[in-house]
Amino acid sequence: MRIDVLTLFPEMVDAVLQSSILGKAREKGIVEYHLTNFRDFSGNKHGQVDDTPYGGGGGMVLKPEPIFSAVEHIVDGTGSRSPRIILMTPQGDPYNQSKAERLAEEEHLIFICGHYEGYDERIREHLVTDEISIGDYVLTGGELPALVVIDSVVRLLPGALGNEQSARTDSFQNGLLEHPHYTRPAEFRGWQVPDVLLSGHHENIETWRLKESLRRTYLRRPDLLKEMELTEPMQKLLEEVKKEEKQN
Ligand code: SAM
Repeated sequence: MRIDVLTLFPEMVDAVLQSSILGKAREKGIVEYHLTNFRDFSGNKHGQVDDTPYGGGGGMVLKPEPIFSAVEHIVDGTGSRSPRIILMTPQGDPYNQSKAERLAEEEHLIFICGHYEGYDERIREHLVTDEISIGDYVLTGGELPALVVIDSVVRLLPGALGNEQSARTDSFQNGLLEHPHYTRPAEFRGWQVPDVLLSGHHENIETWRLKESLRRTYLRRPDLLKEMELTEPMQKLLEEVKKEEKQN
């Protein structure tokens, strides 16, 4: 996969892309990152990329030329036929795990990080293929949101994680929150690890994990359960959870 990030602050993005699993994925040749400072495409000697809004009002607006030129330069240079050109914006589609999975199947992603008050509307209308929001709050720039999306996509690429199993059982992957985890010691300050996890009985462990995953989702994110079609064994476990929780 090739990932391009258009930003006025490449050093901010680079630091994260070089670290941990994102950096290792690059070393393993699973993904390439390319950072473009669209100030280089300003087309004027002052490197100006923003201007005051037509109609007045506060804040500066990113001009269309530098961003169009930077994206066109990348697309022409790579010969990419259908890159996803993604605008980070609090007004975009709310981001989630199924969107991460869909993006992980693409060959080329181009992220545009806004700043200041926003960007000229013609960028949204005539350049981008997607608009993504990472949540209902406003950040100062698109760099952190783009990194959130990149991180969630790269960890899904085959070979990026040391343990593929862990991505398959993560929260949201099957529509549920993940079950709780425990590690050594079996007893800590008098708090015990559930017996079943020490039993070595794989089937019972799997059933316990599924039930606890259902419990967690039922208690914390019942909205997720409403969107799911539960199998019969899952429905039975959920009924047990509901009874147990009523008694508690
Ligand atoms: N005036 C804009 C509005 O009300 O929609 C907010 C602009 S914000 C201060 C500057 C930039 O940060 C945005 O253009 C976008 O790139 C990025 N940004 C801020 N919050 C975001 C979010 N929740 N999701 C994605 N991008 C965000």
